[in-house]
Amino acid sequence: MEHTKRMRDVRSLTLDDIKAVLADLNQPAFRAKQIYEWIFSKNVCSFDEMTNVPKTLRDELSQRFTFGVPTEIVKQVSRDGSRKYLLEFPDGTSVETVGMPSRNKLSVCVSTQAGCAMGCVFCATGFNGLARSLSAQEIVDQVHHVARDFGERVTSVVFMGQGEPFANFDNTVTALRMLNDPEGVNIGARHLTVSTCGVIPGIKRFAELPEQFTLAISLHSAIQSTRNKLMPGVRKYTLQRLHETLQTYVEKTGRRPSYEFAMIDGINDTTPEMDALIDFCAGTLCHVNLIQLNDTPGSLLKPSPVHKIETLQRRLTMHGVETTIRNSRGNDIDAACGQLKQKRVYLS
Ligand code: SAH
Ligand code: SF4
Repeated sequence: MEHTKRMRDVRSLTLDDIKAVLADLNQPAFRAKQIYEWIFSKNVCSFDEMTNVPKTLRDELSQRFTFGVPTEIVKQVSRDGSRKYLLEFPDGTSVETVGMPSRNKLSVCVSTQAGCAMGCVFCATGFNGLARSLSAQEIVDQVHHVARDFGERVTSVVFMGQGEPFANFDNTVTALRMLNDPEGVNIGARHLTVSTCGVIPGIKRFAELPEQFTLAISLHSAIQSTRNKLMPGVRKYTLQRLHETLQTYVEKTGRRPSYEFAMIDGINDTTPEMDALIDFCAGTLCHVNLIQLNDTPGSLLKPSPVHKIETLQRRLTMHGVETTIRNSRGNDIDAACGQLKQKRVYLS
């Protein structure tokens, strides 16, 4: 076992590295490209799946390299067909991933960090703080895992699992590019969405990217004092600066950001809160997603009643703000952010 741990992940090799390894093993050069394709286009997770590679060579490679893919610790299947996984990386760190099928589409929700340092009070991920950031490969591995489990091509990915993507900016962008790469997973940039709690330097850098990736902002309140209480980790990135940054983002990219608004009973569903949200959005390019808060065990925060959510949607629409009420997928399997992992902590 010790021995396995020290072996190098074959997916960290470049094509040139593979060529060098094969030359070392006195193998013909064309094998390098074959093996490279198995790893990076066909996304196999063992040497045995490389059926056009001789068994002796596969055995030799498996003596030298490993596939550092995550292990599935828990899988829950929802009545609506979505599947939630707890995946563990070779170092014992685990994260949550969700696969959400609909007709001929398959959407995946990935984590960018194990845990999160932002401490939003409504979010189960925030409760235990940050364990560590994930590498780009670890983010992409979650997508491969879901694709394999469903036996289907993934058509979109949302970076809305555990963690704050812009607190792990470089790896997030590398993962986006690996997913977008026509030679790799080949998902269109517009079908790759990153959600941030409002880390302004990250939004500015994101605006500079040449790709048409989609941006979602977790807003949750357009009143500063409420937002400070709900999302203490982003107090310093004020709503005013956030608004300015988003207008610059829209001017620069021509893309429409979406705002996530999880409705919490008595907290952000009051008339002044609705007025402030309308002020924040009206006349700007944006799309608002209203979500009923997911009940988190042990939390004093409760979901808003449906009629309030409908009222807010009606009011936003009247002011020309496009608004969708989103159903939280997989409610019955605790698919809300961080809840599967949280439950394991409770049970252990
Ligand atoms: N850290 C990033 C992305 C991960 S959180 C962010 O905050 O945007 C993904 C989404 O789930 C965010 O919009 C977050 O605010 C939301 N969320 C977290 N806990 C929730 C809950 N209990 N109910 C509804 N939405 C929740
Ligand atoms: Fe972190 Fe996002 Fe949860 Fe806030 S909502 S604690 S930023 S994962």
